[in-house]
Amino acid sequence: MARPVFNLELIESTCIASTTLGLVFRVDTPPEFEAGQFISLLFTHKGENLKRSYSIASSPEKLRDEGLLDIAIGLVPNGAASECFANAKVGETFQMTGPFGVLTLPKELPDRLILIATGTGVAPYRSMLPQLNALAKQGKAIHILMGARQRADLFYQNEFQRLAQTSADVHFETCLSRENMVQPEAGEHQGYVQTRLAELNPTPGQDLVYLCGNPGMIDDNVKYLTELGFGPRQIKREKYTFSK
Ligand SMILES: Cc1cc2nc3c(=O)[nH]c(=O)nc-3n(C[C@H](O)[C@H](O)[C@H](O)COP(=O)(O)OP(=O)(O)OC[C@H]3O[C@@H](n4cnc5c(N)ncnc54)[C@H](O)[C@@H]3O)c2cc1C
Repeated sequence: MARPVFNLELIESTCIASTTLGLVFRVDTPPEFEAGQFISLLFTHKGENLKRSYSIASSPEKLRDEGLLDIAIGLVPNGAASECFANAKVGETFQMTGPFGVLTLPKELPDRLILIATGTGVAPYRSMLPQLNALAKQGKAIHILMGARQRADLFYQNEFQRLAQTSADVHFETCLSRENMVQPEAGEHQGYVQTRLAELNPTPGQDLVYLCGNPGMIDDNVKYLTELGFGPRQIKREKYTFSK
């Protein structure tokens, strides 16, 4: 059976970081989705019909109540979707299929939730913010690590910092691999998320770890966590692989 296709209208396009676009679409007859899922965007580039996957960066409530859906696109040189959406004008229409994916929060959580992202991999965690806020109020420990090259590459960080302010057990930290840091700011680390994860002393049976974004980062962390004794159910991942 053919997948349902939904019509989208671009209503906002903003540069949210050095090479990242924040797009907001109005969706007609919006489907339900769970925070953490992704969509497939259909578009035409140089006469070719193409599709690319993007994590939904806004909450299910925003789509249900306002018909609006956010995504964050990290622009890559000569990328088809990158060029198409960088040049797209407000009012242009596209199509999508989905939602897809299982990077969603379970009903029962262990002691600590560790959410790790590189770049736009932070988008599904932004979609989870209403759920994370509710978990923070219940006293759950949540640790969010966002990896980027430099401060200029960060986005959505204010929203995660606000979440962290609601509870002493919620932390948002950034790991910057190429920032020349004379004076790290609060919650900032020099280096990769892998290094910071090890410092958090991840423990099988106590932690549930989410990994989203760069495939190399995910492979490194899965290898490390597996060596520590984490099983497949204690690690959830979404790799942002390129289309062939
Ligand atoms: C499940 C899933 C969810 C995803 N969610 C997101 C998301 O929320 N935000 C997002 O920005 N992307 C996301 N991606 C990646 C996205 O689907 C595209 O691959 C990406 O936007 C590049 O598409 P493009 O058409 O611009 O480049 P393409 O035309 O596919 O590639 C052009 C060239 O750029 C290289 N390239 C492609 N991507 C990268 C990259 N990231 N870094 C360096 N070089 C690259 C390719 O090797 C190729 O040489 C996701 C992928 C998957 C599988």
